Amino acid sequence: MALKATNCPGCGKLFLNPGTGKYCPDCMKKQEEQMDEIASFVRDNPRSSVSEICAALGVKKSLVIAMLQSGRLEESNINIKYPCASCGKMIRHGRYCKACGKKITGEIAASLQRVRKNAAEQKEKKGVYSKDQWLK
Ligand SMILES: [Zn+2]
Ligand SMILES: [Zn+2]
Repeated sequence: MALKATNCPGCGKLFLNPGTGKYCPDCMKKQEEQMDEIASFVRDNPRSSVSEICAALGVKKSLVIAMLQSGRLEESNINIKYPCASCGKMIRHGRYCKACGKKITGEIAASLQRVRKNAAEQKEKKGVYSKDQWLK
């Protein structure tokens, strides 16, 4: 994959992005450290709110929410709600609310089924048509 020069949204530095994330290596490392701090803070202070965490550690709210969305924080330890990535309903864990999660899983299952069905149909066609027709 080609490296792309990108401005890091964290520090504004121009860096070569290997496609692993949008932040420069320095900020990625800093974020990792902050995430560790957040995780241990939440462990020590169950039921803390996002603003408490941000005030105590000086971290960005978006980082805490990103951690929640990726399941890196124990949801029962944190007193927070954030919008569903699809419909905006306030939720407490994951990226989507229950309804959207269900819908999205259903859509994925349906499209998988379509792909399988298409593949099966293609197979059948291969058998019906002669080789020349198929190669056209
Ligand atoms: Zn940076
Ligand atoms: Zn939703």
